[in-house]
Amino acid sequence: MPRQLFVTTALPYANGNFHVGHIMEYIQADIWVRYQRMQGHAVDFVCADDTHGAPIMIAAEKAGKTPQQFVADIAAGRKPYLDGFHIGFDNWHSTDAPENHELAQQIYCDLRDRKDGSLIESKTIAQFFDPEKSMFLPDRFIKGECPKCHAKDQYGDNCEECGAVYAPTDLINPYSALSGATPVLKDSEHFFFKLSDPRCVEFLSQWTQDGKLQPEVANKVKEWFSVRTNPDGTTSDGLGDWDISRDAPYFGIEIPDAPGKYFYVWLDAPIGYLASLKNLCTQRGVDYDAYMANPALEQYHFIGKDIVTFHTLFWPATLHFSGRKTPDNIFVHGFLTVNNGEKMSKSRGTGLDPLKYLKLGMNPEWLRYYLAAKLSARNEDIDFNADDFLLRVNSDLIGKYVNIASRAAGFLTKRFGGALGEVPEDGAALLHQLRTQHEAIARLYEEREYAKALREVMLLADRVNAYVDANKPWDLAKQPGMDARLQGVCSVCIKAFRVLTCYLKPVLPELAKQVEGFLNIPALSFANVTEPLPANHVIGSYQHLMQRVTPEQLDALFEEKEAATKAEPAQAAPKTIAPSVVTASSDATAPGGEPLALTIGIDDFSRIDLRIAKIVHCDAVEGSTKLLRLTLDVGETDESGNPRMRNVFSGIASAYQPSELVGKLTVMVANLAPRKMKFGISEGMVLAASHGDDKNNPGIYVLKPWPGAQPGMRVH
Ligand SMILES: [Zn+2]
Repeated sequence: MPRQLFVTTALPYANGNFHVGHIMEYIQADIWVRYQRMQGHAVDFVCADDTHGAPIMIAAEKAGKTPQQFVADIAAGRKPYLDGFHIGFDNWHSTDAPENHELAQQIYCDLRDRKDGSLIESKTIAQFFDPEKSMFLPDRFIKGECPKCHAKDQYGDNCEECGAVYAPTDLINPYSALSGATPVLKDSEHFFFKLSDPRCVEFLSQWTQDGKLQPEVANKVKEWFSVRTNPDGTTSDGLGDWDISRDAPYFGIEIPDAPGKYFYVWLDAPIGYLASLKNLCTQRGVDYDAYMANPALEQYHFIGKDIVTFHTLFWPATLHFSGRKTPDNIFVHGFLTVNNGEKMSKSRGTGLDPLKYLKLGMNPEWLRYYLAAKLSARNEDIDFNADDFLLRVNSDLIGKYVNIASRAAGFLTKRFGGALGEVPEDGAALLHQLRTQHEAIARLYEEREYAKALREVMLLADRVNAYVDANKPWDLAKQPGMDARLQGVCSVCIKAFRVLTCYLKPVLPELAKQVEGFLNIPALSFANVTEPLPANHVIGSYQHLMQRVTPEQLDALFEEKEAATKAEPAQAAPKTIAPSVVTASSDATAPGGEPLALTIGIDDFSRIDLRIAKIVHCDAVEGSTKLLRLTLDVGETDESGNPRMRNVFSGIASAYQPSELVGKLTVMVANLAPRKMKFGISEGMVLAASHGDDKNNPGIYVLKPWPGAQPGMRVH
C-alpha cells in the first residue's frame, strides 16, 4: 500500500545564510524522502523561512531595510545551497506569507474558543522596557552583570561564564543592548497558552511517552513534566503556561481582537510547516483541508536537538487542542561539529562554509555520502573530520563502489559492443546475495540508520571486488578462447553495480542518474532492483562517474578567510569601469585594444587552475568553420590508472590547421565546468591571444610554454 507522507525540516531563522548544520539536516531528511519515493510512496517535502521576531526586526533596522525586504533578501540566497546539494524540497515558503497569518490566527481562535473551556488566558506581567527605543526588550537584548559569578555583559536569560539561568530582572546594572539605556519595568498584558491545564498535561504525557519518540528524546521530555525551572531560578512541578504574545513594535502576526499584540515567533513558526504545505496544495490545485483530513496521512518533522521542547510539547498541544492532526513523529538529530571544533549553533557557523565547498568545485555527493556514513537514528552529535572525509570518499565510495563499473564496463564495450553475457554460476550466487539484502537495507533507511545501511552496502561492494580480484578480467582479456568467461565475469560486475547503485541512490541521486543513463536502464527503485536484467541487455559506454577528493581541496575549504583578504590590494577595485565597457570591441588607447579588467585578488586568480596540456589529437569540426576539436592530455588518469583525455572545442579554426597543433604543448583552463555545445561536451578551454579590435587586427595566437614544461604542470 503506497503511503502518503508529509515531511519537513526545521524552519531556518531568516537572519543569515545556511551553515553546514542546516545542510546536514536537509541532507538527512532528503535521503529519507528519496528512499520513501523509491519505495513507491507519495511524499510532500516542504520547508520555509522562519521570518518573525525581535532579532530579525532589529537586524533589518540595522541593515536599513524593512523586515519584509530583509527576509526576502535572505530567501533569495537559499536556492544555490539547496540545488547545490541536491535537496529536493517540493516547496520553500515563508512564515510571513498570507497562508501563515491566516492559519496562525485560526489556530489561536480555535484554542481560545474551545467549548470545554478556553486554553488561552491573559495575565499582566512586568517586563523590561527600553525607554529610548520605546519597546519591550527580549531577554537576549538585555545585558548586565551575572547575579551569581558577577561576570560583566551577560545576556538576560543566562550567563555564558558560569552557566547560571536567571530572569532579566536578576541582572545587576542591567542595560539595553539596543540603546545602552537602563531599562525600566513596565506592566503589560500577555496571552498564555495554558499548558499547565490538566487536559494538556494528560495529552502530552501520553503523546510524548507512547513509544514513538526516540528513547533518549522521550526521557529528556519526561523531565519537563516533573521538574521545571521558573524564570526566577526556582523549580516547580509540572508544565508551565507558555507566554505566546509580544507587544508592538514586533515583526510578526497580529493576535485577533488584541490591538498592538503579536504572536511570539515560536507560536507561528511551526505553523509555517502547514502554511508551506497549503501553498503547495494551492500551486497543485489540491484541496488543503481534504489533504489534511486523510486519516492515512503521516506527518514527520526532522529537527535539531536544540528545539525539542517546541516540537514535542508546544507544537503537538497547539495542533491537538485546535482540533488538528498531530505529527506521527519528530526525528531529532544532534549537532555537527567540524574537525572537532566548536559546536554548531544557529547564530555561529564553523569553518565549513557550504557555499565555499560548492564554489571550490567539490562534489556535493561526497558530502551527502560522508554525512550519511555517520548518521544514525539516535540524537547524537557527529563530527566532520577532513582526513576521515578524504578516506571515506576515496577509499570507500570511489575505491570500492565506483571502481566496480570502471573495471568491468570497458571490456564489455570494447570487446562485446556493450552486450551483457550469460552469468556464470559463481556470479549468480554473488548477485543473489546482493539482491537478498534489499529488504534489510531498505529497513535501515526507513529507520534512518544510514551509517548502518552504507556499511552493509560497502560490505557487499567488498564481495564484488573480491569476485573481480579472483577472476581477473584483465588477465582473461589476454587469454585466447576466454571471451565468454570475460563477458560473463564483467556482466556480473555490471549487474552487481546496478544493485549497489540502487542501494546508494537515496544518498547519491545524481550519480545514480548518470549510472542509469550509462547502463541504459529505467530509474532504479527498491521494487525493480530484484528483477534481473535480461541476458542480452546492452549498456552504453562508461562515462567517468566521480573524481577523487584531493587534500588540496580540503586545505582550500578550511583556509582562513583572512589569508585571502590580506592579499587584496589596499585600494578599492575600480568600480567605475562597468563590465560592458571592458568588453567594448575597440579602444585605441587601451593595450591590445581592450581596457584592463577589474582588479582581482590573488585568491580570485588561484581559483583558475591553468595547466600545461599536450595536444594529442586535433580535428576539424564538421558543420563549423570556427571550431577545432582538441584532445588534450593534462596528465590525468582514470580510476583504473589509464590516461584520461580532455575533449575541448576551441574557436581557432581560422588560424590553425589541425596538423600544425598536434604534438604541441599549450595552456588550458583545467577547472572550467564542462559545457555542453552543439558538437559535444567541452571540458576546458585553451588559452589564446587576440586583439580587442579583431576586424582591423585579426589573428589568434595559441599560447605555447617554454621548453621543459610537462603536461599537467600547473601555471601559477
Ligand atoms: Zn555567571
